[in-house]
Amino acid sequence: MNPGEIQAMIQTLHESLLEQKSLILNKSYEFRQEQCNRAPVSDESEAASGNLEDSISIHLHERDRRTLYQIERALGKIADGTYGQCEACAYPIGPRRLQVHPFSTLCVSCMEEQESHPRQ
Ligand SMILES: [Zn+2]
Repeated sequence: MNPGEIQAMIQTLHESLLEQKSLILNKSYEFRQEQCNRAPVSDESEAASGNLEDSISIHLHERDRRTLYQIERALGKIADGTYGQCEACAYPIGPRRLQVHPFSTLCVSCMEEQESHPRQ
């Protein structure tokens, strides 16, 4: 891939990140609306037990929150021109890896290094 192609790839990614971001924001907005429309639960123990459907919603919500954080981080990197740079060694992560894992912050060798020496 030449620099122009990488630039185009980042541009495409930027658009898709913005789209994903608005999808999640819309979804969480609908989620909140739904919560508001539900009859208020007066009994606290009833609220705590919940049901399966509720726990799935909360789980999705939590996952969306993490995704949103990753999207914001990637958008920030795109904005300041550091997107695609390894956070550990500052070498390019590589367009192929970024296409598969757009939220990668480490190159393959740094990631392997980190996985083989956890918390060091
Ligand atoms: Zn690296």
